[in-house]
Parts: sequence; C-alpha cells; structure tokens
Amino acid sequence: MEKKIYLDNAATTRTRPEVVDAMLPYFTEKFGNPSSVYEFASQNKKAVDEARGTIAKALGADITEVYFTGGGTEADNWAIKATAEAYKAKGNHIITTKIEHHAVLHTCEYLEKNGYEVTYLDVDEYGIVKLDQLEKAIKPTTILITIMFANNEIGTIQPIKEIGEIAKRNKILFHTDAVQAFAQVDINVNDMGIDMLSASAHKLNGPKGIGFLYIKKGVKIRSLIHGGAQERQRRAGTENVPGVVGFGKAVEIAMATMEDRAKKEIELRDYLIKRVLAEVPYTRLNGDRVKRLPNNANFSFQFIEGESLLIMLDMNHICASSGSACTSGSLDPSHVLLAIGLPHEIAHGSLRLTLSEDNTVEEIDYTVEKIKEIVDKLRKMSPLYEDFTRKR
Ligand SMILES: *Cc1c(COP(=O)(O)O)cnc(C)c1O
Repeated sequence: MEKKIYLDNAATTRTRPEVVDAMLPYFTEKFGNPSSVYEFASQNKKAVDEARGTIAKALGADITEVYFTGGGTEADNWAIKATAEAYKAKGNHIITTKIEHHAVLHTCEYLEKNGYEVTYLDVDEYGIVKLDQLEKAIKPTTILITIMFANNEIGTIQPIKEIGEIAKRNKILFHTDAVQAFAQVDINVNDMGIDMLSASAHKLNGPKGIGFLYIKKGVKIRSLIHGGAQERQRRAGTENVPGVVGFGKAVEIAMATMEDRAKKEIELRDYLIKRVLAEVPYTRLNGDRVKRLPNNANFSFQFIEGESLLIMLDMNHICASSGSACTSGSLDPSHVLLAIGLPHEIAHGSLRLTLSEDNTVEEIDYTVEKIKEIVDKLRKMSPLYEDFTRKR
C-alpha cells in the first residue's frame, strides 16, 4: 500500500476542497479590510457576518454572541482568564476536570499561581464526570465551571445538559471546550445551559488558526485583546477573513452532513473496535462504549509501548496517535488515561485512532492486520510479556 492511511482526525483534519475554494478569493481579489468604509471592503464585512450567522445557527445562538479567535486554545484561554478577572469580586474558585485538554488545564494552573483556587474533578472509569462530586465541589466563591463537551483522547461525551442545570441552579457560569464536539454532535447552547463555548475550524475540515468563543449575552467578560473595535471590541485585530469564510463553509457542510457522517463513522468505528478486541489478546477499549464521539477508538495493548507501536505504524504509512497530539513526543503517560484509572504501564501501551468519513473498510482491515502484526512483534521482545507467559 503506497497511500497513507490517516487515522488522526482528532489532531487535525483535511481542509475540504470546497472550503479552500470559498477562501481563495479572499486572499486574491477580495482583499479589503472589513473595517474600511468603501463598497469594495464591505463585501468582506458581509462575508464575516455570514460565517458568524452560520455558526450562530449551528449553536442555536444569536449572531452577536459569536466571537472569532485564533483557534480553540485561544478561545479556552479567553473564556477562563477573562471570567476569572471579571468575576474576581464574587470569588476565586474554578471547577474543572482532570481530563481537560491542556488549553484548559494549563490555563487553570496559570490562574492557580495567581491567587485562584481550582478543583480538578475526578471522572469514572469511562471518563464521565460524576455529577454529585460536581455539586459537592461548589462553594460560595465558585465563579466558573469549565468542563469539556467531548474528550479528545478517549472520545467520551459528558452530560452537558445536566452540568448546565447544576451551574444555572447555583448561578455559576458554565464554559465548555467543544472543540471535538462542535458540528459533530447536536449542540444547543440554550437548551444545554451553556454560557461560553469554544470551537476550532481545523477539527471539522476547516482551516487552521481560526476558532470562536460563544459568549452568552449578559456574561461579563473582559476583552481578550485590546486594540480596534473588531469582534464588538472584545477581540481586537483585523479579522482573518479567509479563515472566517473557510470556517463558515466548513460548518455549513458539517451541519448539513452531520447525521450521515456520524452513521458512517460509527459503523466503521464499531467494526474497527470489534476486530481489534476480538483479534488482539490482552487489549482494552478506553472510554465509554456508547457516550462517545462517532469517530473515536482508543485502545490499550498490554505489555507494549504505545510509542513503538506508533513508529511502526508510521513505517507502514498509518498516521495515528498515542494520546493527545500535544503529549505525543513526551513519554509521560496521558493524564486522561491515568484519570480513568489505568496503571502507568497499561496507559503507556495506548493507541488512539480517530476516523473520518473518507476512511474505507479496506483501510481499517489493513490497519487491523498491521496492529496485530506489530503488537505481536513488540510483545515477543517484551520482558514483561515473557514473564507473564512463563507464569501462566
Ligand atoms: C484541538 C483541541 C484544542 C485546541 O484547539 P486549537 O485550535 O488547535 O488551538 C482544544 N481543546 C480540544 C478538546 C481539542 O481537541
């Protein structure tokens, strides 16, 4: 097989050709600055507003509640730091979970160094937040609950509506990092009691470097970047017009195809999971079997190193990941796998495969064959495995 097999769609996705086509004119002939007054530039302002409208509709939000950012990380930083600052008079306590993306975790750690108190909630063995623990963690000083919609490593989807209800009942703001979930699963910010929501274009077949933060009307939040009057004076700087247009197009397509895409991905994912669990001994699936993103499969193979498996898959032109994209390259086991209770040595032998609608059954078959072959080879070299088989 010459072609590469791309199974790392939680890290990033291919920008759709339709999205690139929509963006191109905004680099070339339609290059005006949306803030300029003349007719030539007003078409750029219109294009930005159109994309904003598409996104607002996908969330069940108002167009004035969507603020473009430079990606998901920036949206997370903004939501957390700016509420921390704006609500300082009310309190200094933030509640999050142990399985957040580093964009949230490291932002919370930064705030801890600056006088804030953060509670990191445990999750159950499937990666789901325990609602009674959330309720117990709330204090008079709690100003923000930030819990991700769906996990980027194990794909677990949280009970967002229930969390939203708890937040509302206790008059606490609720932010959710929905970078993995937006336009992949149904979201309605009002029904779900969400006050702020982060998303990013490159996780849904849009361009890199563009995201948004949804901020519900009435939420007090400080400006992220000071300067011009862009994004209702909350995030200054000339708009990334091609990026915004591409994001809008990607969302338009993702929303229109969501149901069919999910169906296809779930079918392929379940086929992959079934084969791997049946054909590779001493293997477990991480995450919830049902409350999980349509495209996510995450396995732990006992007695092997995930990094070695990744390298050998790469030699066979298969792109996969051992944890989150950000922890790849470091040998610390994933904080998410540790939080669901995996011992270090099992967390080390993990593999994340995240599919897209472009993947085929043939690709999955080839990948399963290679996994079997490589895991077997690695185990034969493993002293742990030798020990284990000798004792049996
Ligand atoms: C990818 C990702 C981010 C970061 O988004 P960027 O646009 O790459 O900055 C944040 N949270 C989650 C859950 C992600 O998967």
